[in-house]
Amino acid sequence: MRIAVAKEIEVCERRVALNPDTVARLVKQGLEVWVETGAGERSFFDDAAYTAAGATIIHDPGKLWGETEVLLKVSPPQEREDGRSEIDLLREGAVLISFLNPLGNPGVAQQLAHRQITALSMELIPRTTRAQSMDALSSQASLAGYKAVLIAAAALPKYFPMLTTAAGTIAPAKVFIMGAGVAGLQAIATARRLGAVVEAFDIRPAVKEEVQSLGAKFVEVKLEEETTAQGGYAKEISEASKQRTQEVVAEHVKNSDVVITTAQVPGKKAPLLVTAEMVAHMKPGSVIVDLAAEQGGNCACTDPGKDIVWNGVTIIGPINLPSSMPVHASQLYSKNLSSLLQLLVKDKALQVDFTDDIIDAACITHAGEIRNQRVKDALE
Ligand code: NAD
Repeated sequence: MRIAVAKEIEVCERRVALNPDTVARLVKQGLEVWVETGAGERSFFDDAAYTAAGATIIHDPGKLWGETEVLLKVSPPQEREDGRSEIDLLREGAVLISFLNPLGNPGVAQQLAHRQITALSMELIPRTTRAQSMDALSSQASLAGYKAVLIAAAALPKYFPMLTTAAGTIAPAKVFIMGAGVAGLQAIATARRLGAVVEAFDIRPAVKEEVQSLGAKFVEVKLEEETTAQGGYAKEISEASKQRTQEVVAEHVKNSDVVITTAQVPGKKAPLLVTAEMVAHMKPGSVIVDLAAEQGGNCACTDPGKDIVWNGVTIIGPINLPSSMPVHASQLYSKNLSSLLQLLVKDKALQVDFTDDIIDAACITHAGEIRNQRVKDALE
């Protein structure tokens, strides 16, 4: 059975779907692996490393996409320079595994169904114990949480740790993390390692213990309604609850040197957590890093992809942070993909078994149909 790794054409995408180590393991299992020339270049894996791992380097993308059973990618397929969609390069009936953003851009599912592609969306891998090794949202969110803190530390005109020096004592930076999911928890751990005093807030009360175990203080807001949806994700909360949380968090935002926001609700625009009024009350020199910038931002002043200074406060809205650490991002994503491949390949042949809950949840199109109800709803 043949699997192929495409070179990413998205300009901001430096990751590659498989690293050479993973390729070597898959080749050992008897799979044939094709890698597009230069696919690993921006992750610092050259063609020679893939060849040494047992892959065949393919120069013609038309051949790579058109003659494989399974195509592996990082970013959703897009239009190529020649005006053709990458999806059109796949042969009918092929399997595509990638981040596909099917809830944000459901049109991609229509295109895939039209081309009879079996598409598995890495965003839809269930957040269950059995699927943990395939959970690319988590592996990549953790990188983003870590990098967000480093970016904030670099932009802050202060130290993070407390220092006692001959020239006087430096107070530690105060960091406030909003949203304590995978990215938020890694941000807490990283900010603590750098010596900051950390507070965190989330509408899901279940995260309180995790926040505290990392040495941060949990900012609690008691809400009347249920805030946790199926799969442990946050629910969109009512206007009254939004108002209530904003009242509580305003004081913490005001007193922080750094605010890192990570709050998301799957399939929805990111919730607004930091209003312009809150930013106006922050100390000049403070820094906000908004990890939800791509989903509309948690801060009213965020400009996605840009660093802006507003009222003396630096507001950073990074796009695709995991791609800024392509070596480890690709290593972890490779592991996620190869774990998923173990479910799809039986006796060196492809078997898409919809009785497997992971495959059932992640597969958005098959045999010309869109299979996922949330994707169908998003199209309406
Ligand atoms: P996410 O990226 O969807 O959201 C980030 C955080 O923002 C979440 O903690 C969410 O509760 C929070 N949030 C949403 N709206 C908010 C608001 N208005 N104010 C403050 N915070 C808000 O989340 P994620 O990191 O992908 O994690 C989602 C869930 O999946 C969590 O329950 C997590 O523990 C769980 N999970 C489980 C596994 C597993 O069991 N294998 C693996 C990873 C994640």
